[in-house]
Amino acid sequence: MSQQISIDESKDFEIYEGEYSNLDITEDTFYGFPKESIIKAEQRLLSANVRSVAYFSMEYGLATSVYNKFISKKELNPDNIRAASEVFSNIRAMDYYHMIRAKEIVDMPIYSGGLGILAGDTMKSAADLGLPLVGVGILWSKGYFEQEYCAIEGQNVSELHWEPKDYPGLIPLNKYVSVKIGEDDVSLRIWKYYIYSYDKSNVIPLVLLDSNLPENPPWARDLTGQLYKSDNEWWKIVQRKILGYGGVRALKALGYSIDKFHLNEGHAAFAFLEKAIHLSADEIEKLKASFAYTCHTPVEAGHDRMAISELLKVFNEKEIEILKEHGTDRDNSRLINLTLFCMNVCSSVNAVAQKHGEVTKIQFPTYEEKIESITNGIHIPTWTSESFKELFNKYIDVIGDWHKDSRNLKNVEKLKDNIEFKQDLWEAHKKNKARLTDLLRHWFVRDDVFTIAWARRATPYKRLNLILQNTDRLIELAKKIGPIQMIFAGKAHPNDKSGTKDIKQLLTSIDSLAGAKDLIKVITLENYDIYFGKLLTSSVDVWLNNPLPPFEASGTSGMKAILNGVVQFSTLDGWVVEAKDANIGRIFGYVPEKGKLGVETDLKLKEDAESLYENLEELMAMYYEAENSVEKRLENGWITMMINCIAQSGFFNTNRMALEYNKIVWKIDK
Ligand SMILES: *Cc1c(COP(=O)(O)O)cnc(C)c1O
Repeated sequence: MSQQISIDESKDFEIYEGEYSNLDITEDTFYGFPKESIIKAEQRLLSANVRSVAYFSMEYGLATSVYNKFISKKELNPDNIRAASEVFSNIRAMDYYHMIRAKEIVDMPIYSGGLGILAGDTMKSAADLGLPLVGVGILWSKGYFEQEYCAIEGQNVSELHWEPKDYPGLIPLNKYVSVKIGEDDVSLRIWKYYIYSYDKSNVIPLVLLDSNLPENPPWARDLTGQLYKSDNEWWKIVQRKILGYGGVRALKALGYSIDKFHLNEGHAAFAFLEKAIHLSADEIEKLKASFAYTCHTPVEAGHDRMAISELLKVFNEKEIEILKEHGTDRDNSRLINLTLFCMNVCSSVNAVAQKHGEVTKIQFPTYEEKIESITNGIHIPTWTSESFKELFNKYIDVIGDWHKDSRNLKNVEKLKDNIEFKQDLWEAHKKNKARLTDLLRHWFVRDDVFTIAWARRATPYKRLNLILQNTDRLIELAKKIGPIQMIFAGKAHPNDKSGTKDIKQLLTSIDSLAGAKDLIKVITLENYDIYFGKLLTSSVDVWLNNPLPPFEASGTSGMKAILNGVVQFSTLDGWVVEAKDANIGRIFGYVPEKGKLGVETDLKLKEDAESLYENLEELMAMYYEAENSVEKRLENGWITMMINCIAQSGFFNTNRMALEYNKIVWKIDK
């Protein structure tokens, strides 16, 4: 049985309800949250008098398991519960007997990493600020992938299963659009998920497209299967056409009046094409004013280039003409470069950190004048651990309302000389660390041992194995100063052979440290996800971030860590460049000559490892001093670094970032 209910009588906003959701959607509430906020947000998007923005992203990491969680009155479908993770450590006997289980709802698996989480955090801050925005993405029915460590290959990749129709808050609408792929019309169902503000007074609807429908032929049902499936170029083109064309058509089918189309990465480029196909050259010129583009990476592989011969299988002659006119690659006229296309057709173009802006200008000098920099952030209410929420609330008289305005966290600086605050901060951190030691108790992880983590996508420029270059040196350090606990996590894209090899190298190094387990414990967690992301960024003592400069556009995991008082240990790249004088930890390693990019494959492992160990020694000595003596702890500078970290969160957050986007790009007056 299915029924339709109408939230707003005057418009055709209908949700399709399977029998499962009747309990959860009532006259006034949506999974217990106020439905009024939904109606208000929908009305604004439907109104031609309110300026609104459609934000396009291939992936969304909404942190649905850790923030504003919708709880269904129905029992959770086991397919939507996080799978247990295996561990690969240098205490191998424990790996055989124990897994890590956190029987939480899985984060809606339509993201792969930083880009998606940024999109999710942006939605949440837009909601907090009450901005009329709608997100557009794809309902990946097979998520990204399941990872399994394997000493021979590094990682094994398998298909992920989840059940969208039973995912709390995710609603299939009775609305469809279609997109032509070659000769076939592929039907796409529209789903919605509502992203509530912290105070639940506003929402951002997220529109998700799904080709997994019985009326589609089998090959087409899989098009919205696996995120970033890139077995061949045709797949990549088709997935991008679904996002761009399907997205624009879905917005129209929903009746939304959109003033600005915000394309994230070249992935969303075809949204412009769909709007342009029926227009004259003059009109296309005018259309550019309503398009904005954000470039998220300086890495070569991040810039889509597609062969015209392949594009012809998916687009018609007229469409190809427009692509050629605005996007022909500079080095190869048989390719369309989606980054160039976006830079040409969007009136506004931005990079995601100051440094990334400089790098993008070097890479695309023709657009130098146009490229702005808006530094990334994280959504503070999502990434603040429970014990830090309590801490911030205890000192709210000094800090101010940090939920309402994340920039207030800057005020933590005023507590630098407050001994009680310093003690409370140390205790709050210890509580977080206890969550980690509890999770890893079978591996004898302790809360009084120096703990450092590296967790992010495994790909060469991020240099997963830098700290393990010279394990003898690490053993020496541990003997001299104190034991070390190291946690690693991260997936490599299934087609990233070098990234997969890095994981294999990591596992080999871990094995080689089996004899040193009393001095150094190394633990890797399978299937890094938002749940682990939040846990690790809040619970370790030091966050290691060692990309090869200048290839990290921004990076956001370190921002999650500073929010929770976790000291930074980083190369000078991405967001860290903007915090380099704030004394938030140690900065080390190679820095490219001003105005030069260097070479992405020249990883400088030897010299940077050397500089890493020198700095690590200082950090460890300082940590153990603070750990072992209450007096030293209050004055040796460790806690001061923790405080500086939190204060920097007053800037590195999506609340500040969304305000900048609004000022420079979106220009919505609420
Ligand atoms: C924050 C986060 C990332 C991004 O980390 P970077 O350091 O920016 O690469 C990736 N994956 C997960 C699960 C995260 O939480």
